[in-house]
Amino acid sequence: MKVCKFGGSSLANAAQVNKVMDIVLADPARRIVVVSAPGKRHSGDTKVTDLLIELANVAMSGENCDRQFGAVVERYAEIAQTLRLGDGIVKMIEDDIRSRLAHAGALEAAEFMDLMKAAGEDNSAKLVAEAFNARGRKARYASPRDTGMVLTGPFGDATLDPDSYSTLSRAFSSFDGIVVYPGFFGYTREGKVATFPRGGSDITGSILAAAVCADVYENFTDVDSVYPVDPRIVPEVSDGIPTMTYREMRELAYAGFGVFADEAVIPAVRARIPINIRNTNHPGEPGTMIQQSRRVVPGTIVGIAAADGFCNIVVEKYLMNREVGFGRRLLQVLETEGIAYEHMPSGVDSQCIVVKGQNLPKEKERKVVQSIRRELQPDFVAVERDIAILMIVGEGMCYTAGMLAKACLALASVGISVSMVNQGSSEVSFMIAIRSQDREQAVRALYKAFFG
Ligand code: ASP
Repeated sequence: MKVCKFGGSSLANAAQVNKVMDIVLADPARRIVVVSAPGKRHSGDTKVTDLLIELANVAMSGENCDRQFGAVVERYAEIAQTLRLGDGIVKMIEDDIRSRLAHAGALEAAEFMDLMKAAGEDNSAKLVAEAFNARGRKARYASPRDTGMVLTGPFGDATLDPDSYSTLSRAFSSFDGIVVYPGFFGYTREGKVATFPRGGSDITGSILAAAVCADVYENFTDVDSVYPVDPRIVPEVSDGIPTMTYREMRELAYAGFGVFADEAVIPAVRARIPINIRNTNHPGEPGTMIQQSRRVVPGTIVGIAAADGFCNIVVEKYLMNREVGFGRRLLQVLETEGIAYEHMPSGVDSQCIVVKGQNLPKEKERKVVQSIRRELQPDFVAVERDIAILMIVGEGMCYTAGMLAKACLALASVGISVSMVNQGSSEVSFMIAIRSQDREQAVRALYKAFFG
């Protein structure tokens, strides 16, 4: 059995919905279809979820929201009319959104917002199920409430109650035929609608894949595969990555590979379900398969990722290495300020802590530096900003000599100076820190060296 998830661009209009149905019907194993709300039809368009957020805000302000309401309904009506689904489904969607709007003012803002946002996916699933039936193919909509998708945590940022797996698995064992399931939301134990963070339909797909022990979780989007490097920086990149491991995916996603949020697929990864990234617009392409292990060619890498916006807290103290507890006290300063750290390379008498710039705004920086001075009496402490990190990733680096040398030579050849290097014992990646302004040139140089 395959669980397939289709993102917003795959449901943006009737032509896209037709592609979705063709894909699902082409393989009888595609039994669970998770859908997003209709996304952008073209650049400059607005996603239905964003229209719903606007509608909710206007409704809460007490102003007339007819225009925003009309804009949401119009998106579904356009699809339904082009697919000749009849007026019944559009009427049902209109009534559904109107009944949600009736709660404006009565519910707390965050709860009302989730109720409205969830309408995007919920109605998308009902419409797609109807579209299958209009084609004469049996498909049924399944509700997160009836199947037991129980969520906890704050509205807009909810997580799955782990007890849900067994309920979901039982619910799906009684279904036959194609089930169309709305992504992005579930219900609290008290029966309130709650959503995952934005982009959360990936999470729903991943949860269902784990719950039913799917053979594969197919994540349909609008790219042919995951590329070894950002095509916006290296436009000539043509070959996608055919397979990569979960560890490789995690390392690349960490440094900005944008196909999906790595956290979204944790349920599938934990259950060891292979994840296949595929393109709704080119269903013949095999896409990228992400799995527990793969055949590895020694000395090769799968990708190069680069992210900027990091900063580096540099602490120096003579004989630091002999001072028991120095590292713990240094990290305690960050913990007290609620700052997570990313990397921690060290020298004999120096310690660097790389953190995300957004986690260390100027006023926090002042407090952190003062606390470090007070608690550790260093010879020197400073914060460097505008740092980019490069992640060179691949299981093939294990036990292979010269990988770091190759990367450093490539950077040296274009005059880029390396300010930090960090490699964990897994040898699945190494991190190189450089100045932000050199990021794109560095990626191009590394791409040439490893793939050129
Ligand atoms: N529609 C939601 C969003 O735009 C969830 C999703 O598409 O995954 O964030």
